[in-house]
Amino acid sequence: MAVTPEPVWPDGRRSCVMLAFDVDGPSGSAMVDGSIWGMPRLFVQGAYGPFRAVPRILDLLERLGVPATFFVPSWVVEHWPDVCRDILASGHEVGHHGYRHERYADLSVPEQESVLQRSQAIFEAQLGVRALGFRTPTGDWHEATPRLLAEHGFVYSSSFRDDDRPYRRVIDGRVSDLVEIPAPVELDDYAYFAFTEDPPFPKGHDRIAAYRVTLSNWCKEFDGMHRAGGLLTTTFHPKISATPGRAVVLERFVEHMVAVGDCWFATGTEVARWVLSHPERFAVRGETGWDGVREEGT
Ligand SMILES: [Zn+2]
Repeated sequence: MAVTPEPVWPDGRRSCVMLAFDVDGPSGSAMVDGSIWGMPRLFVQGAYGPFRAVPRILDLLERLGVPATFFVPSWVVEHWPDVCRDILASGHEVGHHGYRHERYADLSVPEQESVLQRSQAIFEAQLGVRALGFRTPTGDWHEATPRLLAEHGFVYSSSFRDDDRPYRRVIDGRVSDLVEIPAPVELDDYAYFAFTEDPPFPKGHDRIAAYRVTLSNWCKEFDGMHRAGGLLTTTFHPKISATPGRAVVLERFVEHMVAVGDCWFATGTEVARWVLSHPERFAVRGETGWDGVREEGT
């Protein structure tokens, strides 16, 4: 197996953390198929995120002095523009996360382009910025998605779970400037506080986990990654992780990482630009995540 280079981080720091939140709000598959409009329980549970939880997270980040990246479906930007402007005004980054949280693997190329273009137009109109980062809703994408991201000016994706270091992606047989910042399932709050995949993955977490166990797991994941000198990013959802009680868990977790004092906290774009400026220290990987192991005809 080929040996890949090990990362180097600014100012000789040992590791990197890209704290990231997916502000899905009430978007998702039930909004894509329209069924959410018959499920007010689900809608308001989602709306709690941008309405109530994001401001709490912004306060927490300000107290601890760390930047973060917020991936926001543009439907959420349209309906809660003020809280999204507050994210930017607080010095954080906003990234693309679909319009209604579409599953990119289900969309044709023109449909994907339409979602990207419509979302960037909403970002520009409401927030005055274009997204440079992308996190695929639902964790899957179409084989044309990375090429479309590069063509539409994105500098990074944070979608896959295939490494604990960022890497540059091959597109159409050539090493591109699109950086992937992998996001591990261990740092996805759904796996602890909401529900897992169907079928369950990882199996066994079919109810809310104990908060002290969750905090311990997160801290251990950081400790191991820090020892290895890699990058840790989170898939935290404000509506899941920033209820009053869970916000305490979140705050303890960030405090734990800050206390190490030898870790670079960065936004997604800062990570991507660092990777591109140090190409010899970061790996190059396959076009779609299969890294050449996909069999012919599949
Ligand atoms: Zn999401």
